[in-house]
Parts: sequence; structure tokens; C-alpha cells
Amino acid sequence: MQYQSANTDSLMYITNRPALVFERGEGSWLYDHTGKAYLDFIQGWAVNCLGHCPPEIATALSTQAAQLINPSPAFYNGPMVKLASLLTENSCFDRVFFANTGAEANEGAIKLARKWGRLNKGGAHEIITFDHSFHGRTLATMSASGKAGWDTLYAPQVPGFHKAAYNDIAAVDALIGPKTVAVMLEPVQGEGGVIPAEVEFLKALRALTEARGVLLIVDEVQTGMGRTGKLFAYEHAGITPDIMTLGKGIGGGVPLAALLAREAICCFEPGDQGGTYNGNPLMTAVGLAVTKALLAPGFLAGVEARGQYLSQKLLELSARHGLKGERGSGLLRALVLADERGPDIVKRGLELAPQGLLLNSPRPNLLRFMPALNVSEGEIDQMIAILDGLLKG
Ligand SMILES: *Cc1c(COP(=O)(O)O)cnc(C)c1O
Repeated sequence: MQYQSANTDSLMYITNRPALVFERGEGSWLYDHTGKAYLDFIQGWAVNCLGHCPPEIATALSTQAAQLINPSPAFYNGPMVKLASLLTENSCFDRVFFANTGAEANEGAIKLARKWGRLNKGGAHEIITFDHSFHGRTLATMSASGKAGWDTLYAPQVPGFHKAAYNDIAAVDALIGPKTVAVMLEPVQGEGGVIPAEVEFLKALRALTEARGVLLIVDEVQTGMGRTGKLFAYEHAGITPDIMTLGKGIGGGVPLAALLAREAICCFEPGDQGGTYNGNPLMTAVGLAVTKALLAPGFLAGVEARGQYLSQKLLELSARHGLKGERGSGLLRALVLADERGPDIVKRGLELAPQGLLLNSPRPNLLRFMPALNVSEGEIDQMIAILDGLLKG
């Protein structure tokens, strides 16, 4: 595709992108090379939790960039230490390892569990994951994922992952054997179509894993950092997992991820784990600014309230258009269509003039909403009004 003078042919082809280039973002709005505005309910894939270019992040980046960008991962730095403390003070975990992407954090979780199994469980190393789950695009995290077709795409897979049916405690129980070291799941399956784990299932899973001496790993790359109205989604079930991974929202738009674990599980020794950019102060300074914003009085209550507002508006829309309802948690929601018009609605939303709407359709019969956590009721109303028109078309 030709974009004015820019030729995109030098980019490796991995996906179909529309013939436009985004040049500017502010809050819930993105602006392309022609100046056209788009109401953004994708937000970098549930990443930009404070919206586009929030002042907190711009300030954190410029201040830190002028002070210290990279001392090397062999040394402590201020933002790395402060962010780790803030995360442990506000979760059930004791220690944090910072990474760059969700997949990398999950790789770390898999390694930590396997090492723990070698030391404490006679070499147990198998991990139970779930059908339709998504844990990333590295070979191990693709093998952990329950996405159709991924078992053969880059075969051979990394061995040691067994898939259970989601929300089915008997299925998990049946898969636990002497080689099982952990169960890993998303509290809400995001890429799988916004499917929440039932509170009772999470509670039963914690009791089962505890009884069988198996670790519980929550992949909160999409659900963490306030997305569901609590800082972490596991809190809704009142459970205490052993390991958690974070990504997406923790960086508010910059590459930052984290692996958290309880003290008793932390068994890495020097040389076991690392990474050139782990704890990089430029990124952790942003993570610190983001986390402080989420912890400000009233912020998470606002996410919860606007999640309910969005839910109610989607239900009204569903009733008006004869759709099949909505589901989700906080500001991670999906509208269930009565047919497979999802991709077409997404395309027409993008092309709408004078203002476009950015939505995602993780499955042909679903539309997914992952707005900024500080999205306003007015912006939700605007989105609903545009979507109302698209559903009529
Ligand atoms: C997005 C996502 C990942 C992968 O994160 P990357 O930063 O793309 O590597 C892993 N797990 C879940 C639940 C995700 O939503």
C-alpha cells in the first residue's frame, strides 16, 4: 500500500492493515494522516489504560529519559525498586521480575514453576492450561495456549502442556497427575472471546491445587492493572494464587511486563533468569506512574462504575437489535451478535466519516470493548450511538 510518500512494502507482511497511518492520540481519540478522528475502544489492545498520551506517562518518560535510561540489568535502579514495592504492597505476592512483553512474563512463570517442581516435587513439570486460552506467541506460550491450529503451526510444540475445559473443575482434577506442577489460566479469557472464569470455579481451583500440591498461576496480562475494576482480577474470587503475570496495562502503552510470585515459590538462582531490558528504568518509571494513577482514591471504583454503565448500554443495544446479550468484567466486555457480522461492523466502523470507531471482533459473532480505564460516560454514549447506526446498516 502507498501512504503518501511512505512505501510500506519494506515491512514484513504479517497482517492486513488498513491504508492509513495514525499520527496522534489524545485520551479516547486517535487521529490519522488526514486528520480524521477515531473513537478508540481498542486502546492498543487493552494496553493504554490511561488513554492515548496521558500527561502522567509523558512526564514520567521525559523526566526519566533526562535522568537515567539504562544502567544495565546487573544493577538496581530507583523506578524498578519502587514499582516492585508498590506491586507487592498491593497484591498477595512478595517478589517481582520485570520483563518486556506478556509472553516473556509467561515464559518466566513457566520456568519458575518447572524449577520449583524440580526442587520440590520430584521433577514434576507439566502445566495444565485451558481450551481457547491465550498466553502469547513464543514457542512455549503458543504451546501453553489453547488456540485452534497452534499445535501444528510451528510444530513440534514445547511439550508438557495439557488442556482442560474452562470452568470445568472435574476436567482439571482428571488431568492432575504426579508430573503436574501447575495450573495456569486467565481469570477472563480475553482473546478467546471475553469468557470470565466463574468465581466458584476459581475458588474450587485454588482448593484443588492446594490439596494436590500444585501451583496456581494467573495470567493477568489482559485482566490485571484495573481492567476488571479491581487492581487484579483474582481479587474478585478472594483467592491467593502462587504466581501472576502482568503485561499490557502495566506499561500504559510502553513495553513493560512483570512476573510476580509468593516468597515460597521464588527459587531462581543467579543465571536462571534475566534479560537485557529487565527492570529498565525508562519503562518502570512509566509503570510506576501508571500504577500510582490506578491506585489514586476513586479510580478503580470509577472503572467498576463505568464497566457497569457500559454493560447496561450494551444490554439495551442488544435488546434493541435482537442480539444475544453481553458479558465481561469491568471495562473488558463483549457484545454477542446474532450472526457473524463482527468483522464487517469493525470495517465499517473504521471507514465511517467524518469520525471513525475502532472496535475489535475476536470472533465473528463478537465485538470486544477495551476502552481506556478513564473513558467517560459521554464517550461510552458516543460509541453506543455510532454502534447503534452500524448495527442498523
Ligand atoms: C496479550 C496477552 C499475552 C501476550 O502478551 P504480549 O505482550 O503480546 O506478549 C499473554 N496473555 C494474555 C492473557 C494476553 O491477553
